[in-house]
Amino acid sequence: MELMSLTPPWLERLLSTKFFSPCKAHFNAPRNECNMYCLDCKESFCFYCKQSWHNDHQVIQIRRSSYHDVVRVAEIQKVLDISGVQTYVINSARVIFINERPQNQIKTTNAVISASKTNSHLCEICTRYLLDPFRFCSLGCKLVGIKKNGNASFILSTKKEEEIGKMQERRLLSKEEDEEILIMREGIHKQQVYKSTFSPYSSQQAYSNSRRRKGIPHRAPLGP
Ligand SMILES: [Zn+2]
Ligand SMILES: [Zn+2]
Ligand SMILES: [Zn+2]
Repeated sequence: MELMSLTPPWLERLLSTKFFSPCKAHFNAPRNECNMYCLDCKESFCFYCKQSWHNDHQVIQIRRSSYHDVVRVAEIQKVLDISGVQTYVINSARVIFINERPQNQIKTTNAVISASKTNSHLCEICTRYLLDPFRFCSLGCKLVGIKKNGNASFILSTKKEEEIGKMQERRLLSKEEDEEILIMREGIHKQQVYKSTFSPYSSQQAYSNSRRRKGIPHRAPLGP
């Protein structure tokens, strides 16, 4: 599938933009750090620029968590399909990281080894530990995943969301769970067999019971 159909045009620029530098147009103003990003103009700017030039545009606010850029889920999910990306609660707001955070290479190798033992979740791209069964640690890793495999999307659409949901369900099924489902299916199958043999028996019994109660003389129901 075309990358354009899976990713909005402003996303790649967002991922490569450096935020929180002082705005050149408002150098001496108190709130002049460039922490806004306009989806229409694909550029970053400060609070005053937003008021002056981007008031009617789609603008999202970038926040910081330990020197990493994050965006609030409440804001980003209106314009981007963030399914598959790990969310974190930081300062009582749910956020996601914009880019992959660098990690120690040795740690990464160990993470893969221990994750395979403990069945924990790792980012498909950078192998960072994830808290929940998500596929990516950040928007950046999801974009790499889309470019590599095309089996995810950033475009909000109910149909695509359903497809992704199904895909994730399939991915999440570990071998053990597969076996569990197999047992469940077998159980259902047995139940059906039981039901189908049970019902004629029970109706016959009901028939004979009613016959006995009402004292109607016996006549074979299917006899000639
Ligand atoms: Zn704008
Ligand atoms: Zn400015
Ligand atoms: Zn990652």
